[in-house]
Amino acid sequence: MKKLKGSCLCRQVSFEVADEFIFLGYCHCSECRKWTGSAFATGGMVPASALTLTAGSEVVRHYRKSVQTELVFCGQCGSSLYSRKLLVDRCIVRLGTLDDTPTRAPNVHIYCASKAPWYEIMDALPQYDELPE
Ligand SMILES: [Zn+2]
Ligand SMILES: [Zn+2]
Repeated sequence: MKKLKGSCLCRQVSFEVADEFIFLGYCHCSECRKWTGSAFATGGMVPASALTLTAGSEVVRHYRKSVQTELVFCGQCGSSLYSRKLLVDRCIVRLGTLDDTPTRAPNVHIYCASKAPWYEIMDALPQYDELPE
């Protein structure tokens, strides 16, 4: 199975993730906007067991956003790395942290109902107001 390498801005944290995403998409929810500081978050979902920290566990920090979601970031440089979906044992990797190229590209926009009003989606990918079934 192909593995992809990822890292934070200061490179203290690195990880490997299997190139087998259950879901690849752009999330336009207001919380992703806050966490990424950008118009939307680009995420790839994998089973939690498919992601391994390979360096920097001592500087990794966690923020418990909700009952089901913990955000994982570098305490040194602040890079958003991935979220842990605790109730379903999955992780959503921020694709911008990858140093390798995943086989498939994101193919959907979610939570478009709360999209930033100053951002216009310019591609033809499907758009959902919230999370599709
Ligand atoms: Zn860092
Ligand atoms: Zn989101």
